Amino acid sequence: MTYSPTDLMKIAVEEHLKCSEFPRVGAAIAKNGKLLSTGHRGEAKGVHAERIAIQKLGRDELEGSTLYTTLEPCVELHNDQAVGSCADLIVSVGIKDVFIGVLDPNGTIYSQGFKKLVENSISVKFFNRKLRAAIEQETFDFGEVHVVYGSGKRRVPVVQSGIDITVYFSKTDTRSIPLSWTTLQPVHGCVDLSSQIGAVKVAAGARMLSDVTDPAVFRFPSHFARMKKGMISVVQPADATFCVLVRLIELYENDILFQWEVRNDP
Ligand SMILES: [Zn+2]
Repeated sequence: MTYSPTDLMKIAVEEHLKCSEFPRVGAAIAKNGKLLSTGHRGEAKGVHAERIAIQKLGRDELEGSTLYTTLEPCVELHNDQAVGSCADLIVSVGIKDVFIGVLDPNGTIYSQGFKKLVENSISVKFFNRKLRAAIEQETFDFGEVHVVYGSGKRRVPVVQSGIDITVYFSKTDTRSIPLSWTTLQPVHGCVDLSSQIGAVKVAAGARMLSDVTDPAVFRFPSHFARMKKGMISVVQPADATFCVLVRLIELYENDILFQWEVRNDP
């Protein structure tokens, strides 16, 4: 069976949709229209989609092949990375052409993977516009309003214009506070937390949510807090009858893990 480039892009997108974690990435490798292998993020723990697809093949198969990947391949961001970057791997195994779905919206990576491939004489093209739009929607979960209740932990993508999350007091108590995470800067280890309708105060000194016995003791409300790993903020709009404590647990390249807990006004 011989596939057209568009067919192979769609196969990569099918792989992409198998991912249960964000950012989603799917990859397919073909030669002369013949599909050789596929891979998607999450198929092997911690291994990038392109690497998974490459590892399924031998050197002869890879030589002169074409890779279709829904997200721009990663580049090495520092010298002591345990695993090399996908861009370096692609160059080293003799892949000749690469089709990219979307460039990585993370500002520290954006277009560097593309550049690295081009500099190494790989022909780089992009998926067609319609597929790119679909990938953008599906890669980072754009546009979806996230809703959370009471207390918990969640890992969310923070790319481009950020992500809005509505915290409800509980499933039965519909009082709510909107949160926004924007401007993730992994290199600087920070991300901004704000609320459209209210003030954010840093719970300076608190390490665990349980350290915050009375959220009202914290002062100096601001329209946002630049959160670092482990920091806790109290978000309480002026007219709200409750507040939400937010703790940033971890930052990743394109997403963050945070914890929240609602507290009634005493
Ligand atoms: Zn990679």
